[in-house]
Amino acid sequence: MDILKERILQEATIVNSGVLKLDSLLNHGVDPQLTMEMGKEFARRFEGKKITKVITVESSGIPVAFATALTLGVPLVFARRKKTLLGDADAYVERVPSFTKGIVTDLIVSRHLLGAEDSVLFIDDIIANGDAARGLLKIIEQAGASVAGIGIVLEKSFQAGGKALRELGFQVETLVRISSLEGETITFE
Ligand code: 5GP
Repeated sequence: MDILKERILQEATIVNSGVLKLDSLLNHGVDPQLTMEMGKEFARRFEGKKITKVITVESSGIPVAFATALTLGVPLVFARRKKTLLGDADAYVERVPSFTKGIVTDLIVSRHLLGAEDSVLFIDDIIANGDAARGLLKIIEQAGASVAGIGIVLEKSFQAGGKALRELGFQVETLVRISSLEGETITFE
């Protein structure tokens, strides 16, 4: 999406060669109109996939996942992220490392929100190593649901997540791919 590339060039800051700060668009603030365009683009790319639910991880994935779910006319479920030692019999739980926080958290989805009848589209803001995505895929597997596809706004393709998920056979659609943040420069693929 060219408009997204322009906005990233204008508004993102490079934290280091592995991390981009994109607070005004994805991680703190939301541009509703642009977010709706992203949702429509994901709906277009996964057209005909018989999606019954969109799933994401709180909190940065929620706006674009909402826009996608609204366009597709299906419900949205967002996994809660908690730091907990307690199990929950009524929930699917997967422990994942958090890329930005440097801690391990649990992804939690209530059992009544996801079932074997679901064909799920996973939407998220950014993919780095793919840990959040892999955790969510395990939750979908636990529920006996199927994965219709994976849509990510921004793929840092110099990190392994997107490639690894494609190698597992998933349809992974990303709106913008960044191949490098070296030299304090954002390089698009
Ligand atoms: P992964 O699990 O793929 O390693 O990381 C994915 C999650 O970490 C995303 O949901 C995203 O919120 C966060 N993340 C990964 N890389 C970046 C980054 O460069 N900047 C920001 N702001 N968040 C990131």
